Amino acid sequence: MPNYEQADRPPVDLRTDYPHPARVYDYLLGGKDNFAADRAAAEKGLQANGNSRVPPRENRAFLARAVRYLAAEGGIRQFLDIGTGIPTAPNVHQVAQQVDPTARVVYVDNDPIVLSHARALLTGTEQGRTEYLDADLRDVDGILGSPRLRKVIDLDQPVGLLLIAILHFVGDSDQPYEIVRRLLDALPSGSYLALSHLTGDFEPAAWEKIAEIYRLQGVTMRVRPRAEIERFFDGLELVEPGLQVVTHWRPDADAEPPSDAAVSVYGAVARKP
Ligand code: SAH
Repeated sequence: MPNYEQADRPPVDLRTDYPHPARVYDYLLGGKDNFAADRAAAEKGLQANGNSRVPPRENRAFLARAVRYLAAEGGIRQFLDIGTGIPTAPNVHQVAQQVDPTARVVYVDNDPIVLSHARALLTGTEQGRTEYLDADLRDVDGILGSPRLRKVIDLDQPVGLLLIAILHFVGDSDQPYEIVRRLLDALPSGSYLALSHLTGDFEPAAWEKIAEIYRLQGVTMRVRPRAEIERFFDGLELVEPGLQVVTHWRPDADAEPPSDAAVSVYGAVARKP
């Protein structure tokens, strides 16, 4: 049985007086794992853009559809989910294991608040194991070389790499394209990348304000235009319908989606040839 002690380190300092992306996101999703500083930052964001609860909700729905697609149609049985966030049902393993109970997931996040909830992510089974790594996306070698990852994921078999709503927290100076390329280089042909990313394309002023609110609190946020998000998929085969505002990516229902401007998240799934 996996347990909390298997995580790398205890949640020593949650820095609750500063907003953390995972907790702001949790607040916007209606969760309870957030503190006053997170709520204040989220509320400021809501003032700048009254729709800011829409992006997390639609992004989360995209995540579930993408994972279901990868498991059901891509034949993917092992997932590497970097930038997991605070557990929100359904989590990746729950979606994947609905398709196949043997699906395995390694979760990765660098936020101590997520670490403190890792137990909720470790509810896999003997046949469908899950692991949690307290690690930074920018430490590609550390992630791929981790013995705990290797126990769950066989890097000779296709992997579904999930980078969902994380890369807008990686500034250009941290070489986000290089990070994605190095991760994909380590995965065999037939692996997939599912990625989503905030954009300022539809409401540049509002998103600049939101990014500024984050930056003032010490959190890098870099919303990117469509062409820069598309670049993350260089060398891969985009699955239909390509890079879309996430609500248009294989939607479940015919319900009228919120406007593209309200969503402001692009996403796509692509296969490594
Ligand atoms: N993927 C989830 C959560 C998105 S919130 C979803 O789409 O629902 C973004 C998450 O990325 C947060 O939990 C944050 O802590 C994490 N994150 C941001 N920068 C990171 C980094 N450099 N390394 C690891 N995790 C990071």
